[in-house]
Amino acid sequence: MIQKVVLHQATLEETLPAFVGAATQILRDGAVGFGEMAAEHFSFHEGHPYISASPDRDLFRLLADLAARYDVPIDLHMEALASDIAFADLPDCSAADKVHQFANPDVFSENITAFERLLRHNRMARIVWAHAGWDNTGHRTAALTRRLLQDHPNLYIQLRPLPLRSGGRCNPITDVSGNIVGDWLDLMSSFPDRIVVGLDSFYSKFRPDQTDEEFAQLLDRALGAGRRFMASLRQSSPALAHKVGYLNAVRIYRLNQPMVCHRPGTPAERTMRVDGSALNSHLAHGDTRGPCG
Ligand SMILES: [Zn+2]
Ligand SMILES: [Zn+2]
Repeated sequence: MIQKVVLHQATLEETLPAFVGAATQILRDGAVGFGEMAAEHFSFHEGHPYISASPDRDLFRLLADLAARYDVPIDLHMEALASDIAFADLPDCSAADKVHQFANPDVFSENITAFERLLRHNRMARIVWAHAGWDNTGHRTAALTRRLLQDHPNLYIQLRPLPLRSGGRCNPITDVSGNIVGDWLDLMSSFPDRIVVGLDSFYSKFRPDQTDEEFAQLLDRALGAGRRFMASLRQSSPALAHKVGYLNAVRIYRLNQPMVCHRPGTPAERTMRVDGSALNSHLAHGDTRGPCG
């Protein structure tokens, strides 16, 4: 819906009611947050879309308001652009194929300023910036991340551990041996409650030509990278590893506090969070999952 408005395939006015309806339905279906939403997504192969929408535009701000109202986070996919970069000037560490531009534009536009406006728009909206350590512009440094975490109390960071490989990458969170890079470890120590791990492995077959075996291999690689990262973090600090690898996700995504519509259709009706162990008794007296209608 955001992309349709960006591409002028739909007006904001006609999209608004459907957007709010879809967001609440997603929560009734059991989602613990909204995402991944894409504000800046590069195209890396044929048929892999380039997606760009300023992170503070109308529907992102509305989504932040909905996230705040329902106390759920937004996962945001956004390549970091501290300044404009021409496609031709992407650094060698970027995963973008230098031979094929695919669907990418000639110039990628700066987006950190608009991202900060989104963060300021509603401080009650928790926003999880996905895929730190998988940077394709060279701008997503630990220093930029630290500055944004300091300035924006509602910002959270998802680290993406990558499988070991020979090629370079920009601002990695682990070195070629799998050890955590000092800057990122310092960042986790400074903000131990605001960083989580996300593997970013596709749940369904992304490419139609991909076999089940190839899919299983990719999943294994992602899981292996996650386990290696957690083992390395545990060596540095078991307490920090417990937060980054487990507790923070439970807290940010309210994993042990499912949302129900309590006593729907009665004067007592209200949207509330319940303790995970009490969910069944609420469902038994007629509550439904997610927010009330
Ligand atoms: Zn993503
Ligand atoms: Zn109830």
